[in-house]
Amino acid sequence: MQSARVAFLVLTTAGQLLAQSEPADPWLTDYERSGFVKTPRYAETVAYCQRLASHSPWVRYTLFGMSPQGRELPLVILSRDRAFTPAAARRTGKAIILIQSGIHAGEIDGKDASLMLIRELAITKQQQRLLDHAILLFVPIFNVDGHERVSPYNRINQNGPEEMGWRATAQNLNLNRDYMKADAPEMRAMLRLFTSWLPDLYVDCHVTDGMDFQYDVTYTVETGPNIDTRVGRWLNDVFLPYVLPKVEAAGHKIFYYVSPREDHDITKGINLTATTPRFSTGYAALQNRPALLIETHMLKPYRTRVEATHDLLKAVIELVNREAGSLRTAVTGADHATIAGGDGSGQILPLKFGLGPRSQPHTFLGVETRLEPGELSGALCPVYSSRPQEFTVPVFDEITVTDSVPIPFAYLIPPEWAAVQEVLQVHGIVLARLAESATLEVESCTFDNVNFSERPYEGRQGVSFSTRPLREMRTYPRGTLVVRTDQRAAKVAVNLLEPGGPDALVRWGFFNAIFEEKEYSETYVMEKVGKRFLADNPALKQEFEKKIKDDPAFAANPRARINWLYLRSPWADPWLNKYPIARLPKPVALRTAKL
Ligand SMILES: [Zn+2]
Repeated sequence: MQSARVAFLVLTTAGQLLAQSEPADPWLTDYERSGFVKTPRYAETVAYCQRLASHSPWVRYTLFGMSPQGRELPLVILSRDRAFTPAAARRTGKAIILIQSGIHAGEIDGKDASLMLIRELAITKQQQRLLDHAILLFVPIFNVDGHERVSPYNRINQNGPEEMGWRATAQNLNLNRDYMKADAPEMRAMLRLFTSWLPDLYVDCHVTDGMDFQYDVTYTVETGPNIDTRVGRWLNDVFLPYVLPKVEAAGHKIFYYVSPREDHDITKGINLTATTPRFSTGYAALQNRPALLIETHMLKPYRTRVEATHDLLKAVIELVNREAGSLRTAVTGADHATIAGGDGSGQILPLKFGLGPRSQPHTFLGVETRLEPGELSGALCPVYSSRPQEFTVPVFDEITVTDSVPIPFAYLIPPEWAAVQEVLQVHGIVLARLAESATLEVESCTFDNVNFSERPYEGRQGVSFSTRPLREMRTYPRGTLVVRTDQRAAKVAVNLLEPGGPDALVRWGFFNAIFEEKEYSETYVMEKVGKRFLADNPALKQEFEKKIKDDPAFAANPRARINWLYLRSPWADPWLNKYPIARLPKPVALRTAKL
């Protein structure tokens, strides 16, 4: 595909591209000029995008936020109607696609593919029909600070470009774990962009790590019970049947993202699971939007990967042009169903997913592989040959629901925890405040078996626990945040606020102070008080003595024994390990004010 455009370029013995007789095409990208081996730096990328915008009325270059190191987060909008704002874009009735590259800045194929594609859409106009029924948002580099941490040594697995950026942000956060907790300023900017434009389709471009195989490109879409059935069906029945053959016809081998059940033995099977919402595709599912994860294969040459990404993006945009109507119907139908589900009727929302035993046999285009003892690792290690080999591989795709929750009418968040307000709002969740104090019967929970992670993960000390549901009267003061669930982003709200959600804010450590004991009993005090207390509570006395008999570590720990009694005494903190957020299961009349 590139060969026609660069036919007048020759490769010198020094390996550099020089113009022969004709002048070089001024619209070649830096990647093409390099002979398809280098990727441009941030400044060159932005300069090319700005040049595209200054030469085409259909292109606007803008920014959607700032990085922690002070770089603009670039956004290129393509619209033949010059509909460069969310409202104007919506008025055209066209579908909106958001294509992002460089969330992991070392995996930058999507950027170079996108720049060529924008040129073909707006400058050379070979592909201008792809703007007939679609408006395109390109984020050429999402993790801009990581993109500028350039080295040839950033990706040990990867076959080019010659130098590349770094996976994490300047704050050492992995943006593709940050969709829910939204700690990174870049992610907050992306979520504001996402929720203001509400793209009908989201595309996230990566490069894999892992095993060797024949495929240039692998992909993930969510079609399980973690996505609205209309949107999942659209992906399965409309999107994939068009896009996959198109990519294959363009000369690429494409397969599901390869997640082997057992390392080093593909014949044991591949898992197709539901993606948790900390990742792009799982997150878009909660927003009722289809998303495509593109993972080109790291061992393929850079040019092969960029072309595969280009051809896949082109097929995706073609399909959306053909099916803009069915796509809009699916996502708006999903949005209406979500809003209707917040009526307090107790509709069930699945939160956690597993994988059942059912599998389908698939042909897998691998390479001949043998296992050899690894001298360095001391373990068996696969040695991949260059000889292709076909395997029949069971693909496990029976996604099951392992935890779910009835959607309440609303959540109440006391004002002292209002720090979560901004996190909720960047997700497009609409909040209100109690205009006056309210005493209500609510549902909430107490946490047991509380365990903190030993090491930080994504900058946070996560916590695991079991929950004991409780129903009680609580007084929530004026200023309490009210999160109604009869809104479009309700599934995100439920996932953030239900402790059972895999990316619940409480699991990410947003409420860790609730697990801290702030009052204790001195031993000499409890020796006196505790005896009286046990004398008045024979059942507790029995439990205490049994624990001493059965649990030698406990028996040998004076502090633990005294604290055990303290926590069961009237002096204990009734709010220790208790969730401050409550559910209102049924509709209640609340006097609220807008934020
Ligand atoms: Zn990646």
